[in-house]
Amino acid sequence: MIYTSYFGKRVKYQDNVIQVAICAKPPKGWTGACYKKLAPPYELLMEWKADPRKDDYFGVKRKQYYDAVLSKLNARDVVRDLQRLLPGTEPLWLSKRYHIVLLCYEKPCDFCHRHFVAQWLSENGYECCEAGGLWHEPVEEEADVTENH
Ligand SMILES: [Zn+2]
Repeated sequence: MIYTSYFGKRVKYQDNVIQVAICAKPPKGWTGACYKKLAPPYELLMEWKADPRKDDYFGVKRKQYYDAVLSKLNARDVVRDLQRLLPGTEPLWLSKRYHIVLLCYEKPCDFCHRHFVAQWLSENGYECCEAGGLWHEPVEEEADVTENH
């Protein structure tokens, strides 16, 4: 399965869960894989950073991200790239042995491009959801999580 989650969640993933950063800049000391093709371009990041709202009620950011990134990618190619990070040849989207978790900074209920990625992968037949529950479900605030994007 393919999941999304965030760096702040201090989860120790099991060995069969491959962590992949999909942000423009992974956290300091990051030793996991990076997949930059899904990162929002710099200009978009700056624009989003300037907008204090933690939502995308009007779908503006979704469209911006789609136009800048997803519209230029093919979900099958992306999954094929991710597949290369796994040992073995079992298809990632069917595998019960290995999982990939795509990581960015924001908490599950806040605006983050990974939610668009998850929806896009799912719509293209590669089920993807937030690890530990749906992203839009309210979650308890974690005191030790710092905002970072
Ligand atoms: Zn993000």
